[in-house]
Amino acid sequence: MNPNHLSRRNFLTRIGVGGVALGTIAVGATAACSKGAGAAEGGATAKCDDTTGLDDAAKALRTSLKYSDAAPDPTKVCEKCLQFVAPEGEAACGGCKLFKGTVSPKGTCAGFAAKPA
Ligand code: SF4
Repeated sequence: MNPNHLSRRNFLTRIGVGGVALGTIAVGATAACSKGAGAAEGGATAKCDDTTGLDDAAKALRTSLKYSDAAPDPTKVCEKCLQFVAPEGEAACGGCKLFKGTVSPKGTCAGFAAKPA
């Protein structure tokens, strides 16, 4: 193994992805996901953590950022995050600019960055 090789995980660790927004990483699909009762009205949390179809790197990034469909802190939910991509049409799940796959508007992760007021 080349000692100068910088793995994706090491790269993300070095740039501090846990607390800093990456900015322009392409957004994964915002395809439909399970819609919890009241999700569209901002009530229950939508189930958006299905990683079927994602490659190992994408799954690892979601895991490293500790994505969860349910945020313990209501002030740090995806829909209030700068990285959130709103659901399209009738979909309950949106996307995230930091990683592929769907996320719940009421979800959260370690990369949360509040939208400007
Ligand atoms: S809080 Fe949600 S929208 Fe913000 S970076 Fe994490 S998963 Fe993406």
